[in-house]
Amino acid sequence: MVMNEIKQRLNKIKAQIRQAEAQEKREIESVKLLAVSKTKPAADIALAYQAGQRHFGESYLQEALAKQTELAAFDISWHFIGPIQSNKTKAIARHFSWVHSVERLKIAKRLSEQRPSYLPDLNLLLQVNISVEATKSGVLLAELPQLIQAVNSLPKIRLRGVMAIPEPAVAYEDQRKPYRGLYQAVTQLAMPELNEFSFGMTADLKAAIAEGSTIVRIGSAIFGARKYQEKA
Ligand SMILES: *Cc1c(COP(=O)(O)O)cnc(C)c1O
Repeated sequence: MVMNEIKQRLNKIKAQIRQAEAQEKREIESVKLLAVSKTKPAADIALAYQAGQRHFGESYLQEALAKQTELAAFDISWHFIGPIQSNKTKAIARHFSWVHSVERLKIAKRLSEQRPSYLPDLNLLLQVNISVEATKSGVLLAELPQLIQAVNSLPKIRLRGVMAIPEPAVAYEDQRKPYRGLYQAVTQLAMPELNEFSFGMTADLKAAIAEGSTIVRIGSAIFGARKYQEKA
């Protein structure tokens, strides 16, 4: 893919974010763009980097580590956004600045224990299940306060907020509703340090921003459609 295409797409998404911020009376630049680069080569990440992008999201550990090695000279902030099994926590704790997809205390504890002391605290978001389907991953809303309390006391972890992937919905109001409930639940805890909301992808970016998103996760709209799924 040529430079122009990735840069143009990045600019287009950023313009959409700025427009949604303005329309929803959000502070300008209160929403950050996470470029989701899973399955895409390091060369594409380098192009996005040259266009000014610094935060990249990856879902598959081995693939991410290989790209990090290739891009070691770049000042990139890496976010892990995929499912986490126990055998991956050690590498995630060492090689990422942010983790969006923690849904169990056991995983948070391992990340805490395995975060090297010479690195800053690991920024952590708890993934919350805000859909009705029992198959969706994430902690249930009813169990969130307890998990927050437990994770908040762990060393080398900086709990920053929550992440959610709702069921896809077409109608704007249906897109907004699940985010609203989670945003309210978190703000009601009166913990001002929990102020990051990883809400929204390409299709529901505007609805997510209307409901308090501070990080939108965008992949194919920047890098093009994914041709294959890598194994975790
Ligand atoms: C892949 C992925 C995205 C981005 O999806 P696109 O369809 O490429 O925009 C966002 N969030 C998570 C958790 C993902 O796994």
